[in-house]
Amino acid sequence: MRPALFALLVLAGCAGPWNPLDDGLEAKTLRTERWVRVDDDGTTAILAPRSVRGDVASSWLSLMRDARRDVAEWFGEPLSGRLNVHLVDRFPEGFEADGFSNAERLFVRCNPDAAPKAADRDLIAHEIVHVFLAQRWKIKRPYWFEEGLATYIEGERLGYGVGGKSLSADVVALDMVDLSMLRFDTLHTWPPRLSYRLAAVAVAAVLEKWGKARVLSLGTQTGSFEDAWALTFGETTKLLEERWRDAVRLEQRRRTGP
Ligand SMILES: [Zn+2]
Repeated sequence: MRPALFALLVLAGCAGPWNPLDDGLEAKTLRTERWVRVDDDGTTAILAPRSVRGDVASSWLSLMRDARRDVAEWFGEPLSGRLNVHLVDRFPEGFEADGFSNAERLFVRCNPDAAPKAADRDLIAHEIVHVFLAQRWKIKRPYWFEEGLATYIEGERLGYGVGGKSLSADVVALDMVDLSMLRFDTLHTWPPRLSYRLAAVAVAAVLEKWGKARVLSLGTQTGSFEDAWALTFGETTKLLEERWRDAVRLEQRRRTGP
């Protein structure tokens, strides 16, 4: 559509090599600071590289309790074990997203005063989805599915997705997306906020077509994601990729009018 503009957009938003699924990102982030445990409610510990006021640490614990409950409800299963939440001042250079997580640790970008912002409630819900997938799903998920599902569940809280607003409704750069460049295997190189929403559009299409129970059954599979996908849905991810481009094209047309 406007390839030059889009290339600029990608370059501007993607200054470095890290995406949330990269190996080594956790070790690098842990090494960047000296972490101090600032609060702990028995199931979650809050860690920060500096002192944090008691009421601020408690509000993070409270966000975590709510998000654990909501995400467990979505998946129909509770999370297990203790979790560590790292309030991060400095992510490794080139990491542009607001957080990442694995089975035991959440890393979230925080304010200078460390107090959670309104959007952090949704960020924590998003990160807990990654924790759940890391704990319970044996199959390795590609970027588009992992970030798409986390963003979809985060979005449901805001009224996006099935039965709500379009997941790409307020994505400013959507008009500049060149559909010929929209691919699952390179989506991780796009600016995070845009790529997460686009991934969530794909996940919404899957949930609409197959329903949540079928999508959750994917988590019981082992082996390659592509094989598990074909076994679960009876089609390849290539077909979904085409429907995904159609959905994004429709949204672009809807915005520019007839
Ligand atoms: Zn994520």
